[in-house]
Amino acid sequence: MPLNIAIIGSGPAGFYSADALIKACPDCRIDFIERLPTPFGLIRGGVAPDHQTTKRVTQKYEKTAMMEHVHFYGNVEIGRDVSLDELRQMYDAVVLAIGAPSDKKLTIPGADKIGVHGSAAFVGWYNGHPDFRDLEPDLNTTTAVVIGNGNVAVDVARVLLRSPRGMAESDLPDHVSKIIHAAPITDVHMVGRRGPADAKFTNVELREMGHLNMTAPRVKAYQMPEDLGAVLSQYDDRDRRLRTRNIETLKEFAECADEDKPKNVHFDFFASPIEILGGDRVEAIRFERTTVENGKTSGIGEMFDIECGLVIPSIGYRSEPIEGAPFDQKNGIIPNDNGRIDPGLYAVGWIKRGPSGVISSNRPDGVIVAEYIAEDITSDSNKLGRDDLEVMLKDRHVRWTGYSDWKKLEAMEVAAADGSAPRKKFVTVDDMINALDG
Ligand SMILES: Cc1cc2nc3c(=O)[nH]c(=O)nc-3n(C[C@H](O)[C@H](O)[C@H](O)COP(=O)(O)OP(=O)(O)OC[C@H]3O[C@@H](n4cnc5c(N)ncnc54)[C@H](O)[C@@H]3O)c2cc1C
Repeated sequence: MPLNIAIIGSGPAGFYSADALIKACPDCRIDFIERLPTPFGLIRGGVAPDHQTTKRVTQKYEKTAMMEHVHFYGNVEIGRDVSLDELRQMYDAVVLAIGAPSDKKLTIPGADKIGVHGSAAFVGWYNGHPDFRDLEPDLNTTTAVVIGNGNVAVDVARVLLRSPRGMAESDLPDHVSKIIHAAPITDVHMVGRRGPADAKFTNVELREMGHLNMTAPRVKAYQMPEDLGAVLSQYDDRDRRLRTRNIETLKEFAECADEDKPKNVHFDFFASPIEILGGDRVEAIRFERTTVENGKTSGIGEMFDIECGLVIPSIGYRSEPIEGAPFDQKNGIIPNDNGRIDPGLYAVGWIKRGPSGVISSNRPDGVIVAEYIAEDITSDSNKLGRDDLEVMLKDRHVRWTGYSDWKKLEAMEVAAADGSAPRKKFVTVDDMINALDG
């Protein structure tokens, strides 16, 4: 009997695991089980719509998905259509690659006001993720505040400020571009608790903010460190190089501060959010100035407000527990020993490590798990994998989508695209299933 392995989730971590498993065990049968009818996780629903080159990594994943012994079961959610325990009875090994889909909550007074949207929801909305189709944020404001200094914060600021021409080659859904491009937003403040040397954005993303047609980057030169060596002493060589480049870019931004453009992205450091002000809706956000000493951030008692109608906390993602697996609430991950939860059950990607790193950071997780599976599982079990799964799904009237269904949806999306847009996304599960079933 071949080994039957289920991978739950078809984002990067799932695909790198499948790739490693195929190499380690060429005879095994691998089934992706994915809650959406479409594959690729955050590559489709997180990576910015104007970063189509980054999304091309899916061409590599597709080669894996098309292999004869790999099957895709989309529109099947663990915990809704089939339980983890049931899957473990059907498969020799189950790999959890379910990511970290939710927002880390901002816990300050006023964080529940209308006009505050966590970045997981906001990014999901502008990427056409079905879970966030109905978010409909009110962008009728001139000023937005993005809390956080990572790449996601940069993406959000850029998407809010970029002109329709700048987004022409993106796959921003129509209902989103109508709202964003009608919005009177002229100023986006990106505010971080720590200093510029600690900011987590990568230099390519940061530099892009200096090349927007309609938007000028604004940096307070006095916030730049005088003694770079001292503020970077805690970092290793590689990190030091990356952070030095960021500081150089920010200094360049500060030098061309009088650039005359109609919109502005303000980089503000050393400020911690204290309270969101207003009635039912956001009217302003109050910050306290901070100082960073020996790596520790503390408030210095000096307050300031930014008037705004939109606040996007971009302070991180968190995973959700799944029935049948342990969960570490504090760290927001499934507790695991470098990917092994127990023999037969494994974790990879953001559900294993937490929400950090780029796409390729998920690759080593797959390699490790393939080694564990080869060590832990013998091929003499009588588990039937997909044969049993399909019987169960049919019994439960689950309309699953195969990879060929995804290819049909993709062809329809590409055919429907306007101008130089790469595709016009389906943004609800019902629309996808109706399009497939006529
Ligand atoms: C907004 C944003 C932008 C990013 N941009 C970049 C970028 O430009 N470049 C870069 O290198 N990295 C980027 N990253 C990081 C990169 O996307 C992640 O490293 C990567 O997607 C994590 O992979 P994953 O497989 O663990 O999770 P995910 O990609 O989230 O995949 C998880 C999959 O599991 C599925 N799933 C969840 N629960 C269930 C369930 N119960 N049953 C079945 N299926 C389930 C989900 O639908 C999803 O398809 C970005 C991240 C974010 C949040």
